[in-house]
Amino acid sequence: MSINYSSYNEIKSGLQSGEVTAESLVKGYLQQIKANTRLNVFNEVFEQEALNSAKGVDVKLKQGTAGKLAGMVIAIKDNICYKDHKVSASSKILENFTSIYSATIVERLLAEDAIIIGRCNCDEFAMGAANENSYFGPVKNYADETRVSGGSSGGSAVAVQAGMCHAAIGTDTGGSVRQPAAFCGIVGFKPSYGRISRHGIISYASSFDQVGTLTNSVADAALLLEVMAGHDEFDSTLSRKPVPRYSEETTPSSGKMKIAYLQEAISSPGVDAEVKNALITYIDKLRADGHTVKPISFEYLEYLVPTYYILAMAEASSNLARYDGVHYGYRSPNATDLVSTYKLSRSEGFGTEVKRRIMLGTFVLSAGYYDAYYAKAQKVRRLIRNKTNAILEDFDFILTPTAPEAAFSIGKIEKDPVVNYLHDIFTVQASLAGLPAISLPAGNNNKGLPLGLQLLSKAFSEQELLNFSEYFLKL
Ligand code: GLN
Repeated sequence: MSINYSSYNEIKSGLQSGEVTAESLVKGYLQQIKANTRLNVFNEVFEQEALNSAKGVDVKLKQGTAGKLAGMVIAIKDNICYKDHKVSASSKILENFTSIYSATIVERLLAEDAIIIGRCNCDEFAMGAANENSYFGPVKNYADETRVSGGSSGGSAVAVQAGMCHAAIGTDTGGSVRQPAAFCGIVGFKPSYGRISRHGIISYASSFDQVGTLTNSVADAALLLEVMAGHDEFDSTLSRKPVPRYSEETTPSSGKMKIAYLQEAISSPGVDAEVKNALITYIDKLRADGHTVKPISFEYLEYLVPTYYILAMAEASSNLARYDGVHYGYRSPNATDLVSTYKLSRSEGFGTEVKRRIMLGTFVLSAGYYDAYYAKAQKVRRLIRNKTNAILEDFDFILTPTAPEAAFSIGKIEKDPVVNYLHDIFTVQASLAGLPAISLPAGNNNKGLPLGLQLLSKAFSEQELLNFSEYFLKL
């Protein structure tokens, strides 16, 4: 049995009247997980625990004391700490590591009676855009199992796509929620930097990392955002802005908007023809509905990917210094002294892509190259941010494809890192500028593979973005 409710609202009344129980929902999802283990979606399923929590939630539902997410069955990306549960970041170096505390978002989800069904496969330390960099192997796309899920939150995306849970939580540093959502035909939402606490999320690049949601509906993205967002004393980069009641306020917007789209997304030979067509179709629909839709050329387009990768790798090299064979996780059995403990544990514990990034990150931060790469990239980031904000003074939203192509075959481009990195061309702009962005399903290509379009808006304009997304999906 596959259960596919498009939004939590659809099950809520059934749960309250007792027509559906949290326990039966969990059982249904567990069945679907078991029937599809070949997709490699979960690093671990919390079977018994999820069933027990569901029983507890059913009691609370009867008593009328259940929280906002009662009976919502959620999967979390395996880079999110959950006390007394393993968390691996899909890396050998953390394979047997157990969290000693929970991420703030996990506490908030549980406090509202969400049920966590398992931890999902992802790219190692969230580094990748295809989920092919996981120590536990690639995640397969439910639409076509020979194709990638997208990454790095690939397991989270397929868990929702394949009806193995109601919604999933991922993280998005440069596109890791939006891009797999596009490849799997679901909604992937990354809020503004500073909207959701990063406390208890395994760090990749701290000035970019942000928690995001993978859902079947915009309404669920709004509800989860409302629960997770807001001040947390453990994350000093968080905004103190009050958290709107997104779940109540999210309705399809009715006003006429000004929308910019990237001209290069249509003119560039690097973008797949069917992706272009999807974009053009939506531009036409928006125009026909009375919105102002104009092409723009982003003058720093060619600098987006290099700037993102220089900074993300620099931050990663610093963040991953803590995995030394002493403090956390894997320690090489071949080590004989302190230096060989560091060297061998890191050499044996990290995968190829992670090592590549640590080395490049260390290089761009090193004395002779700091000014030429790291400092320069910081300056370019500022230019990108300013220019993007200036565009968003004139327009309400920027519309782009989420990715230049649909899900590609597993193994196809794995060997060329630069080709891989260029796949992030459309998603890293919002990350560099700290802006909210959402990937929305925009039909399938002629092979039946999902396509996604992305909308970007001003910092902390999540409400407007969600409202417009609701409208967009009805176009
Ligand atoms: N593909 C990008 C990277 O590899 C983004 C990953 C992410 O958002 N975690 O860095």
